[in-house]
Amino acid sequence: MAPRETSRLRSRPRSSGRTHPLTVVGPGPYGLATAAHLRARHMPLRIFGEPMAGWHSHMPNGMFLKSSPLSSSISAPEPGYEFADFRIARGAEPPCELEPIPVSEFVRYGLWFQQHWAADVERTTVRHIDAAAGGGFRVTLESGEEFDSPAVVVAAGVVPYAHVPGTFTGLLAAGRASHTADHTDFSQFAGQRVTVVGSGQSALESAALLHEAGALPTVVTRAPSIGFGPPPRTRTLAQRSLRKRLMYPNSLLGTGWPLAACSHGAAAYRHLPDRARAHFLHTVLGPSGAWWLRHRIDGHFPVLCGRRVRSASLDGALGAHLELVRADGTPEAIRTDHVLIGTGYRVDIGRLTMLSPRLRRDVLTVSGAPLLSADLESSVPGLFFTGLTAAPSFGPLLRFVVGTGFAARRVCAALERRNAAVFG
Ligand SMILES: Cc1cc2nc3c(=O)[nH]c(=O)nc-3n(C[C@H](O)[C@H](O)[C@H](O)COP(=O)(O)OP(=O)(O)OC[C@H]3O[C@@H](n4cnc5c(N)ncnc54)[C@H](O)[C@@H]3O)c2cc1C
Repeated sequence: MAPRETSRLRSRPRSSGRTHPLTVVGPGPYGLATAAHLRARHMPLRIFGEPMAGWHSHMPNGMFLKSSPLSSSISAPEPGYEFADFRIARGAEPPCELEPIPVSEFVRYGLWFQQHWAADVERTTVRHIDAAAGGGFRVTLESGEEFDSPAVVVAAGVVPYAHVPGTFTGLLAAGRASHTADHTDFSQFAGQRVTVVGSGQSALESAALLHEAGALPTVVTRAPSIGFGPPPRTRTLAQRSLRKRLMYPNSLLGTGWPLAACSHGAAAYRHLPDRARAHFLHTVLGPSGAWWLRHRIDGHFPVLCGRRVRSASLDGALGAHLELVRADGTPEAIRTDHVLIGTGYRVDIGRLTMLSPRLRRDVLTVSGAPLLSADLESSVPGLFFTGLTAAPSFGPLLRFVVGTGFAARRVCAALERRNAAVFG
């Protein structure tokens, strides 16, 4: 059974009355971990949004997690809330590294975690956040309610940052293109030619799911070839020999020295020069498919590598016309019914329209990403960013669920120190 049958909230009031509650925006893995760690410190908070919406409303049905079961747990302040605990609580077999987690099961895990640590999530959108006259923040909800909060943790996830290259904006406006984040069900494309742009897990898995839904996908990517990660050699990490563990150390992000460095060195990452941070962020665990995806792609549909999309235009009622250029400069053209843009996500807090223009201006940024302190606090005191928004500062760890512990512990310790400084 689960370690706690009842919600953690019964013994923990939402607000102590001593101060306005802290605000957490977004009940995805990062917001939920933040809420759990705040609750363990008896800090009053309010958390807003639709729990796990990033996973159930912006990822395709039938998707599997690329991260292994061991790296797919949301951090809690005490044992008993890992993905394996959820499985066992359900009477199922504990997970093994060779079995990817279906997204539907991960959503159930996230909701189970939420029931324990943030059952009082308020299912409304935060519409506006601005600096309050007397310090702290004025928060406005979709419902129209307004309240003051001494600090805000923005855990709004990846969706606001869906990246659409300018080449496709015309097709997007005409409904002939969409981002992978726009879909949960590909059956609407059955019988249609769909060009999938990109070579990361999201693009490749979407292409496989399109094919399996009866569509005719073609993958187009600038990459010279598509890559797939190697399968784990053993069912559990404990089965690895000492020699293997020394040559390819285990870490939260996976095996090997580069991943171990990014995993253990997340705190030091922000001291790297801007260019180095940007480079490692995109190259460590860069675009590639999971090991279990290869057999669903190879030989099933065309994958056109080494092609840049030079232009994309409407092709009358027939769909879209794409002009491609090969690496050697040779032009190529394809016709398609729809373009699915799988070019990922780019942090740019200009996209977080819930923040007032003044706040967005006051947050110091590098290439759109906020510059954060060691505690994930921005240059605006009391305004914290976690999850993908913090990845340009702390590296690849913060791109994945496995980074929730690192982030939540730091944010919560800082908020506790702040509270102590203000209220003694
Ligand atoms: C296709 C795909 C596959 C992925 N696979 C993996 C994987 O296998 N393993 C892994 O570790 N990571 C994976 N990731 C990355 C994953 O998205 C992040 O690790 C994780 O979701 C980050 O959690 P989060 O809480 O920051 O964001 P999210 O899970 O996106 O949650 C953000 C929450 O904030 C809410 N929100 C946003 N704005 C507001 C607002 N104004 N008011 C109220 N609520 C708001 C959203 O509705 C949502 O509930 C994948 C990402 C994608 C796109």
